[in-house]
Amino acid sequence: MPVNPSPRRVRVLVPLALPDPYDYALPDGMEAGPGAFVVVPLGAQRLIGVVWGEGEGELGFDPKRLKAVIEVMDAPPMSDVLRQFIDWMAQYTFNTRGQVLRLAMRAPAALEPQRLRVAYRLTDKRPQRMTPARERVVEHVGDGFLRTIREIADEAGVSDGVVRGLVEAGALSPVEMPADADFPAIEFEAHGQALSDEQQAAADILSARVTARKYAAVLLDGVTGSGKTEVYFEAVAEALRAGRQALILLPEIALTSQFLTRFEARFGVKPAEWHSELSTRERARVWRGIAEGRARVVVGARSALFLPFADLGLIVVDEEHEAAFKQDEGVNYHARDMAVVRASLGQFPIVLSSATPSLETVVNVEQGRYERVALTERHGVAEMPDISAIDMRSDPPERGQWLAPKLVAEITKAFAAGEQSMLFLNRRGYAPLTLCRTCGHRIECPQCSAWLVEHRFRKELVCHHCGYVAPVPKACPSCEAEDSLVACGPGVERIAEEVIARFPEARVAVLSSDALRGPQSHEDAFGAISAREIDIIIGTQIVAKGHHFPWLTVVGVVDADLGLENGDLRAAERTFQLLQQVAGRAGRGERRGRVYLQTYMPDHSVMRALMAGDRDAFLAREAEARERVKLPPFGRLAGVVVSSENAGLATSFARTMARGAPAADDVAVLGPAPAPLAMLRGRTRLRFLVKAGRNVNIQAYMEAWLGPMKVPGAVRVSVDIDPYSFL
Ligand code: ADP
Ligand code: ZN
Repeated sequence: MPVNPSPRRVRVLVPLALPDPYDYALPDGMEAGPGAFVVVPLGAQRLIGVVWGEGEGELGFDPKRLKAVIEVMDAPPMSDVLRQFIDWMAQYTFNTRGQVLRLAMRAPAALEPQRLRVAYRLTDKRPQRMTPARERVVEHVGDGFLRTIREIADEAGVSDGVVRGLVEAGALSPVEMPADADFPAIEFEAHGQALSDEQQAAADILSARVTARKYAAVLLDGVTGSGKTEVYFEAVAEALRAGRQALILLPEIALTSQFLTRFEARFGVKPAEWHSELSTRERARVWRGIAEGRARVVVGARSALFLPFADLGLIVVDEEHEAAFKQDEGVNYHARDMAVVRASLGQFPIVLSSATPSLETVVNVEQGRYERVALTERHGVAEMPDISAIDMRSDPPERGQWLAPKLVAEITKAFAAGEQSMLFLNRRGYAPLTLCRTCGHRIECPQCSAWLVEHRFRKELVCHHCGYVAPVPKACPSCEAEDSLVACGPGVERIAEEVIARFPEARVAVLSSDALRGPQSHEDAFGAISAREIDIIIGTQIVAKGHHFPWLTVVGVVDADLGLENGDLRAAERTFQLLQQVAGRAGRGERRGRVYLQTYMPDHSVMRALMAGDRDAFLAREAEARERVKLPPFGRLAGVVVSSENAGLATSFARTMARGAPAADDVAVLGPAPAPLAMLRGRTRLRFLVKAGRNVNIQAYMEAWLGPMKVPGAVRVSVDIDPYSFL
């Protein structure tokens, strides 16, 4: 199509690593307002992009060379708020806008014309010849519901031919309808629990924030089992009452059928779900339902933050302290923090819920940026469990075993009383290290600087970083000694082996991300536990979160010191949170829970805080320690990883970068140093850590430093603002 000399122009952002939208001509007769999804040419490709605004200013080249928008998609335009959010997030996380846009375009099928199917309805015409089979069909379809030929035939118990005959005779007429099921209406008034006074007071505050239709950030701070979910469900109901939508963000791991069932118990129907396991088609259905406002509540993992809500009125971030909200690949972002930004741009409240809030959030409360609503009691008769330490130095397990006699005795008692026990060890597989007794060789991943983990059940050695898999060799790969390899240390499979040997009559379940594949097996496993078909549960962090098992009374933490080994700045905080969550699984019913921490450091501040139940004192000490050295949240950090398959190139380019780091007030660039995970998937990795004062614009610093850098093709430089992983 010829483009006239001064065409109407639009700026279109495409989901590629590009910082800015490009100008395109809008052919006569085509309308594409801000936010419209459009197809545009880019080089030899055709891409779907989003209209970011009108073209403005001088083009800088001959307008005749301006390419034209090819097509406008039939989909609701992306809202101003979502576009502002993408701009904001790109700037903050130091990514291009195109990369962030890509996160919001994860359901391309939703932009295609809606799939339709043909259904049939009864007309007034009747064929001259009626048979009993035809009579049955007429009777059946008489209720006015639309059905396909197949459905009519099945339900009326006749052949397809009978139905087709009626279509030909004009007794049934075709109607087109969407192929995908619509979202059922939510019964938000129907099934609320009677709340305790404390719960009601909390729910009232949250609901008032929803009604105010203004930004507010509220920490819902309640001990495990205090009914936080019931309380924030009331805020969700309030958003629905106001005709708006609500988003509940969960760490992926907590997205279980148990949660969905609870939601259904409260609201009469299941919510829309959004997570990585949805099929393409379901993704499209949900995306479209959200954009058109038909899907009213979404429960999702962090990527749900980028959904095109028609009228979002509330976000709840459950287990807000969870590290799983931080994405460490591609676009690095913290979904909790970005959710706060989205709430503020959209002018609605956000609820951060946790029994063990992050230090970041606690400091935000102390400094008045967030409001705090507390729940101090467990619901009903349940009391907080007793937590005690088992000193592994004075009360060690027998040789070759992992459970101390004291813990074994407690499990024995619980088992005899018909109660459940849970053993927690945050390590998948059988053993974290395989060692040769003859030469001392340790079996490592060929592509990563990490040991291979034995998975005895699968008879394999696995790299937990890159997924590399090898059979367990018969002979040592280094000295070739036969039968000389020994498994060192325990993973959950090894604990299971010990438990099965000690309690041959007990029904045992091992829960780790290896054992559970897909939501159905989650459902089965958690269902079996709830139904008391399991006596002893052995699990990784998958069992730590959210679950409510009223018959679980004894929790044993096999290695309470495990998380403290890695030296990162949140090691103590995270260990405290994780163990507190695990402990919170015990004693949620009528019987009091008992928690045992196997530790070599019973005097460590984390263990003492857990035993004393003194979270606030622990957090206060953590805050003090971090403030002293100006670490987050009292200072800013950015991580930079330089990597290449060519080790020499990675090192030399990292040095070049170090020389190019500009001097600035209150900014220190530490490194480069080999990353703790010095090799990953065959790439050599070096790290910088940028440490800056709280008031430094760290993004501007990164731009000044990295903007002018010419990064060689074989080198990757990835930036992580507010890093949580230092590997
Ligand atoms: P939290 O999220 O704070 O750990 P939950 O919301 O999971 O706590 O509540 C713990 C258990 O107590 C759940 O089984 C929940 O259904 C029940 N519960 C909480 N509040 C009430 C209430 N007001 N009425 C009935 N059951 C409640
Ligand atoms: Zn590997």
